[in-house]
Amino acid sequence: MSSYQTTVKDLYCSKCDRRYELDKIITLCECGAPLLVDYDYEKAASELKKENLKDRAHSMWRYAELLPVKDAENMISLGEGCTPLLKSTSIGGSLGLRDLYLKDETNNPTGSFKARGLAMAVSRAKELGLKKLIIPTAGNAGSALAAYAARAGMRAYIIMPEDTPEPFKLDCSIYGAELEFVKGSIKDCGKRAAEKVEEEGWFPVSTLKEPYRIEGKKTMGYELAEHFDFSLPDVIIYPTGGGTGLIGMWKAFDEMERMGWIEGKKPRMISVQSEGCAPMVRAFEEGEPAAEEWKDPETKAMGLRVPSAIGDFLILNAVRESGGTAVAVSEEDLMKCTYDLGEYEGIFSSPEGGATLAALKKLLKSGHISADESVVLFITGNGMKYADVFE
Ligand SMILES: *Cc1c(COP(=O)(O)O)cnc(C)c1O
Repeated sequence: MSSYQTTVKDLYCSKCDRRYELDKIITLCECGAPLLVDYDYEKAASELKKENLKDRAHSMWRYAELLPVKDAENMISLGEGCTPLLKSTSIGGSLGLRDLYLKDETNNPTGSFKARGLAMAVSRAKELGLKKLIIPTAGNAGSALAAYAARAGMRAYIIMPEDTPEPFKLDCSIYGAELEFVKGSIKDCGKRAAEKVEEEGWFPVSTLKEPYRIEGKKTMGYELAEHFDFSLPDVIIYPTGGGTGLIGMWKAFDEMERMGWIEGKKPRMISVQSEGCAPMVRAFEEGEPAAEEWKDPETKAMGLRVPSAIGDFLILNAVRESGGTAVAVSEEDLMKCTYDLGEYEGIFSSPEGGATLAALKKLLKSGHISADESVVLFITGNGMKYADVFE
């Protein structure tokens, strides 16, 4: 698919800086923190000029030098990435904003931006010779793993809460995955997955518990930079569960700075959660470096029903370093805004996307965002599979 060579070097711990060889089959650092991928940025900058990106493949694999897959044969793709950045035609104006954009991730394979991360995780798993992958999921990550594993000829085992809407169960089985349902939230699914890993040797591709999903998600940051001709927007509003996309984009901005692709101020990163599950918002407001577990998480935005995140300190760091904030929105507001995205912008978003619009309204009111700023909302998933939650 791509004849361009990665400049990947090795893995490093996001907390203690310990290093690991790239070809080691590994989940977390010995210290328990997530691992991140390092590249030879000097080499990347000399081999990939930002001016030449326009000639590249129309998918996230266009950034091959900055992605961790070595052999093009292992790049498992269904056409993920390069999603549209739509300028708002209606909502922005009604809020008095000149520059409101919607990063429409609903068009990704399997209907959400989870495709980016799982395409990368499955590709690296294939490269490392792994054969069976397991994931605890609120829905979209399971669909994405199931599809990419099918395409890679690997087995997938998906564990989801029993109250997950039917369409997620259906598509996972269409992709030939093995499915198990658990009472409770994704946290309980994670416990069950840990047992299966221990007992049957499945390899876990849970959020940030392997180093590669974030490398797929970071391509959203590169795409934004390309869209804006390498001057970034003022504000990014991101619906946060495990936080891979937010952390990933922040990593992408850092990488682009190191390669001399961007300079100056970076966007303020805004993390939005539901009032029914807002561990990051609580930790942000209390000035904590990490987040405590949220009890009894409840929200229709299933991707945000994540009571504790292993990358909590990375999310909080990125939000603070960027001068952003974290905000919780009510279920009523996020659902209303989801309908508004449909009615006024022609996008059938899942409730997580609605949450970004609800956050925008709140932050315009509080003055954190002003009308002359450029703002990007991340519309992370398609509403179609969430049919049960729209009454
Ligand atoms: C998973 C998911 C999220 C949360 O993404 P993270 O990167 O885990 O924070 C948001 N929206 C949708 C539709 C999702 O599936």
